[in-house]
Amino acid sequence: MTRPVTEGVTSSEVKILKEETPKAPENPFYEIRPVPGKGYGCFAIKNIKRGTRILADDPLLVVPIAEYFETDIKEEFAKLSPKDQALYFTLHSAHGQDPKNWPKHIHPTVEGRERCRIEEQHKARTGKEPTLISIFQTNCMEMDGGAAVFPNAARFNHSCNPNACFSWNPAIRKETIHAIRDIKKDEQITLSYCDITHDKATRRWELKHYGFICDCPACVGDDPQSFAGKSETRRYRLMELEQEFRLTRGEYIGFGVSQPGFIEKLLEYATLLLEEGDYTVRLANTYLDIAIVCEKKGDLLLAKRSALKALRIKLETQGPDYPDIPKYQGVVQRIKRKMAEQEAAQAGNKS
Ligand SMILES: [Zn+2]
Repeated sequence: MTRPVTEGVTSSEVKILKEETPKAPENPFYEIRPVPGKGYGCFAIKNIKRGTRILADDPLLVVPIAEYFETDIKEEFAKLSPKDQALYFTLHSAHGQDPKNWPKHIHPTVEGRERCRIEEQHKARTGKEPTLISIFQTNCMEMDGGAAVFPNAARFNHSCNPNACFSWNPAIRKETIHAIRDIKKDEQITLSYCDITHDKATRRWELKHYGFICDCPACVGDDPQSFAGKSETRRYRLMELEQEFRLTRGEYIGFGVSQPGFIEKLLEYATLLLEEGDYTVRLANTYLDIAIVCEKKGDLLLAKRSALKALRIKLETQGPDYPDIPKYQGVVQRIKRKMAEQEAAQAGNKS
């Protein structure tokens, strides 16, 4: 992942960036271009339709267990070819940060491996040179039960109001990037490194780990009428609804069905996600829940409409080869079958 080269960057890193402009893999959608004051970014070379798979990237370095100690990363790095090791070190590193910006002490109750992990990560981000850990921290993405560095996916910059999303696809063993809205030629393609529903203060903390302060439309401006102002109100409501959904969705969906106004709350949540531009699997799952609740309540028409929406969003953001697509197709088919049965019964009653 990339961030402004002006902040906390060592002279050797600037030299690397100047000498070698990173190259995108051969593809019809984007290329890497310099962004004044911000390093590099991935830019559309033609208009890209929402739902397009922009990239399917192989992992370069995989750490299979979610702990990420220096020894684990070293062990995996040693397995790479010299060419891949060199490629790893061309990726951005958020080292060189001011130690004053981070907590000084680790709480005395934190001991053993956890203390060691925190110390290693702190050393990596405040160190003077890029390290295996600092590059891993800046670029890793979740993969199965651990995380991996994807050399091409890592080149996409962040926005809290992104136009693309990333997802690990275990069926094809690749990290995919899909356009989540129509992208115009020459527009920068961005991903959100943090949870899009988090408020500005939380996002700022999360993005600090990448060593930059975000200046996207959701972050800049305090005017309540600006996108950032409206976004803050929307994200606050999204978090409120999520709190409620902990007891009414997932395994508790049966309880949700019995709650008055539950469908309305799910619809409100979906609308807020759309307004925030969070066109991702989270939105697909919300529409799937709306479909299931409507089905249980006997509103098959709204159930079908919502299930189709869920399937479309799922296909557009994770692709037809994503493993649990049949679950979405199954709900659509079940509702259609019920509608056909209902129509047949009604026709039978009439005759
Ligand atoms: Zn932002």
